[in-house]
Amino acid sequence: MPLIQGHEFAGTIVQKGPAVRNFKEGDRVAVDPIIWCGHCPACKRHHYPACSTLKLVGIDLDGGFSEFMKVPENMLYTVTEKISDMHAALVEVFSIGFHACNRAGVSEDDRIVIWGAGKVGQSILQAARTKTRNTVVMVDILDERLAFAQKAYNDIYIVNAANTNAVEKIRELTGGEGVDIAFEAVGHTKEIPGVINPVRGCVQAIRGAGKVCVLGLSSEPSPVVMKELILKEGIIMTSRVSHGEFAETIENMSRYTLKPEAVVTDIMHPSETQEAFEMLEKEPHKHLKIMLKFSE
Ligand SMILES: [Zn+2]
Repeated sequence: MPLIQGHEFAGTIVQKGPAVRNFKEGDRVAVDPIIWCGHCPACKRHHYPACSTLKLVGIDLDGGFSEFMKVPENMLYTVTEKISDMHAALVEVFSIGFHACNRAGVSEDDRIVIWGAGKVGQSILQAARTKTRNTVVMVDILDERLAFAQKAYNDIYIVNAANTNAVEKIRELTGGEGVDIAFEAVGHTKEIPGVINPVRGCVQAIRGAGKVCVLGLSSEPSPVVMKELILKEGIIMTSRVSHGEFAETIENMSRYTLKPEAVVTDIMHPSETQEAFEMLEKEPHKHLKIMLKFSE
């Protein structure tokens, strides 16, 4: 059976089932696409992102690339009137950034590097900027992607690892100390001659006793020299999907502390879905999020 994709979406309730208690027709909602089992070891500890059979609406089940869809009410979050429909559809991707920041425990004096300026890196950047006032550095190998980040935040540093020694630059920007937290949001482990592997770069970029939080889902090994981590008694942790951060995201969007428009590079018609995927594949430097607009 073909699957309807789309795990980042928002909409308006047009019809509710008889058992629905907390929502009414006409409510505008964002949909948390995560489905956990409730009885595996992680779920028993209320650690749902690590559910051993975690499923996502739009990846494992029919999702949001359609005009109408059905979802249980426990996946819904009310969107306030301060949030436009377009921004509501971005709650999911920003919740990933907030979850990563919460996993790593970002606080207001933390110096941070985000390695990877794609949509996940940009969402970590935006979430992190609501939490720390200190130095934030963004690393990528595509100038255009770094420019998206810099355009939204003129108080961050951008570093192109393809032509700069990123670790050295990060040390320089932090008075020789290194950052408190480094996020890896690159994902692939395609080796680029002369450019350090992102996870290893993060390990080298943290201060003693700092943290590396890895988000990039790669099926290939990421080479890390353990000595470099052990000498710092550093921590490598991971972050997957989100864990209730829809609420924190909606709260921040309602207070206008995020810049959702900065991650949307294109708006297209649902009939152009295939073309949108091809654009992302062929021109990764030009596009971050392509929004599909189903109705006026
Ligand atoms: Zn589970």
